[in-house]
Amino acid sequence: MVLAQLGGSISRALQQMSNATVIDEKVLKECLNEITRALVQADVQFKLVCDMQTNIKKIVNLEDLAAGHNKRKIIQQAVFNELCKMLDAGKPSFTPKKGKPSVVMFVGLQGSGKTTTCTKYAYYHQKKGWKPALVCADTFRAGAFDQLKQNATKAKIPFYGSYMESDPVKIAVDGVERFKKENCDLIIVDTSGRHKQEAALFEEMRQVSEATKPDLVIFVMDSSIGQAAFDQAQAFKQSVAVGAVIVTKMDGHAKGGGALSAVAATKSPVIFIGTGEHMDEFEVFDVKPFVSRLLG
Ligand code: GDP
Repeated sequence: MVLAQLGGSISRALQQMSNATVIDEKVLKECLNEITRALVQADVQFKLVCDMQTNIKKIVNLEDLAAGHNKRKIIQQAVFNELCKMLDAGKPSFTPKKGKPSVVMFVGLQGSGKTTTCTKYAYYHQKKGWKPALVCADTFRAGAFDQLKQNATKAKIPFYGSYMESDPVKIAVDGVERFKKENCDLIIVDTSGRHKQEAALFEEMRQVSEATKPDLVIFVMDSSIGQAAFDQAQAFKQSVAVGAVIVTKMDGHAKGGGALSAVAATKSPVIFIGTGEHMDEFEVFDVKPFVSRLLG
């Protein structure tokens, strides 16, 4: 597991520094460089890591370290705090309220896990007594409606879509209207993805958003995209008002760093992570336990 490797590398760097008889600027620098390398390998954007290194140098007082305080602990705490700060978007995302209709629109590239995540999100809330509904406004990917329909049927969640209608805006508006009338309190709109970021995708997203006026736009990102995370998240944020992020495929070869980059790029918190293909492989994202795991 890559997260564990990262924790191992950071722990080793801290241990090496602790073992040094004198902690001077050079030893501290070597330790921080080692930590930087580990974080970049875990896909945290290079610039973010450099900023973090600068902050830690400012916080950590070499005299304290020399005076026999627990050096390892002081630096580890500083790294922990900085990583938590990176994952803190500064403000919580809009949180839907049970019993009050909210529209949540999902955006992301094709293959990111968007459709799967829509159902997971609906299922998660349904289990807690909500009345969710799914709208398939993805008219671009052949089979998207069938996939959503199949997942929704399995989870007994109402769904709306069309084989005939090719205008995603119309489908989205009709679906939202219908489920509002049916007193659903969480109306989830799945939008089209594309293989890459392109103007047509962003224009379509913008139109669906304008027509349905979502209370929350969730950007879904595949954790395995590596260093591309920052730019991709930023491109979506520039086109539509992203308010939260869900990072998928955190199981298997997941590298945690993309999550940090996505938060920095969108100034929005990660709210859930996907940890498998199944409906219930979905976890609430919590900053501190995530960073603890990252540091090993
Ligand atoms: P979309 O094109 O963005 O709507 O992507 P899909 O929802 O169709 O997902 C693409 C693939 O990723 C499918 O095979 C999903 O089963 C898989 N997938 C989605 N989320 C996860 C996850 O958290 N973990 C794993 N391992 N696979 C996932």
